[in-house]
Amino acid sequence: MNTPDFIIVAIDGGAAAGKSTTADALSERFHLLHVDTGSFYRAVTAELLRRGVRHDDLPAVRAALAGIRLGTRVTGRRAGIELDGRGVGDEIRSKTVNENVSFFAAIPEVRQALFAYQRGQADEARRHGFDGLVMEGRDIGSVIFPDADFRFFLQADPLERARRRVAEGQQDAILERDRIDSSRKTAPLTCPPGAVAVDSTHLTREEVVARLATLIESRLNRP
Ligand code: C5P
Repeated sequence: MNTPDFIIVAIDGGAAAGKSTTADALSERFHLLHVDTGSFYRAVTAELLRRGVRHDDLPAVRAALAGIRLGTRVTGRRAGIELDGRGVGDEIRSKTVNENVSFFAAIPEVRQALFAYQRGQADEARRHGFDGLVMEGRDIGSVIFPDADFRFFLQADPLERARRRVAEGQQDAILERDRIDSSRKTAPLTCPPGAVAVDSTHLTREEVVARLATLIESRLNRP
């Protein structure tokens, strides 16, 4: 790769593996649109729950999905999802959403509903003059952008990850979410072949960012 004028960086990993802080720092450093796909699954989950749809009622899930219009609002360096023209707030980080999101995310129709939308974030990034995008999630390097210029997989010891979530003041059974996310049939959480795995258990945020940024820079500057 030769100093491309638009780069795609994929960051996957389990819950509380440090994806968001890392993606945020890289978005600033390389002028990339930061796309947190977990927030998309959370937003759709919150909306389905609001409509009284249960994850084990597939016809109801399908009917509700067909009626939701997705849009994007770019604020600063971040892409936010809009459902029927409405943005989402802190409700997508609630305990109820934490408890339900992995069940909805395991439904192929839910993933399908977000597939083209996620790929379309590259157009949003171009439209807003960014030099690329950094997208975080579970299946970005494997399914959404298997052709990404950079694919990273962040790992951390489960106890350390649980400690981070508690420090954020969140009630979140991250191991249970990881279990469901890793064992689902469609787009399971996994380190895709060819991705660079980084274990952040004993690294500071800055060290993780520096490691990824160095890898990106070294390839961007290669003659
Ligand atoms: O990243 P975050 O922890 O906010 O993601 C919430 C949930 O959304 C995950 O536990 C997973 O079930 C789902 N998700 C997914 N695929 C993605 C991003 C998130 O299945 N690309």
